[in-house]
Amino acid sequence: MKLICIGRNYTEHIKELENEKPKDPVVFLKPDTSILLKKQPFFIPDFSNDVHHEVEILVKINKVGKHIDKKFAHKYYNEIGLGIDFTARDLQSQLKAKGLPWEKAKAFDGAAVIGKWLPKNNFKNVDNIEFSLHKNDTIVQQGSTSLMLWKIDELIEYVSKYFTLKIGDIIFTGTPAGVGKVIANDKLKGYIENQELFSITVK
Ligand code: ZN
Repeated sequence: MKLICIGRNYTEHIKELENEKPKDPVVFLKPDTSILLKKQPFFIPDFSNDVHHEVEILVKINKVGKHIDKKFAHKYYNEIGLGIDFTARDLQSQLKAKGLPWEKAKAFDGAAVIGKWLPKNNFKNVDNIEFSLHKNDTIVQQGSTSLMLWKIDELIEYVSKYFTLKIGDIIFTGTPAGVGKVIANDKLKGYIENQELFSITVK
């Protein structure tokens, strides 16, 4: 399986990193080895002094597809989740400055947190899901899928032009504003509306 991640999908987050607004979605992959194992703490890797949390809505693919039209994209997933795209921001900035790929900064072991899954049918409208990240009981990131530049079905159409989507693949749909550094002993909890979907400790 693969993790397909979208960058720069929320205007306020593009502004906070002083990035340009893209004409097309920014896409990168994480390998399955980046998934943080259930109930494990997240260990800050020794090659970074500035690992950031990015909370993101996740979509789990349940049907094989290629060149999926956005009109039919809703048939390709029936679970919605929440996760973190951990990013070694210092390393990513160095790589970006040199025009190099980001994988070392985003695809390292443990860099993908995947919380519990919820049936898509729980939601009246997947384009209006509220979510948040709490760090040590303070809300640090808050978003709604209504603020995405590319909505879930449009992302499926776009990424499936390039990659065959397979059962079990997961799309990380991008982070809203409020990304920030984690330090040892931080506790991160992710919520969709008022349901807690993950709780992890940083070491
Ligand atoms: Zn991200």
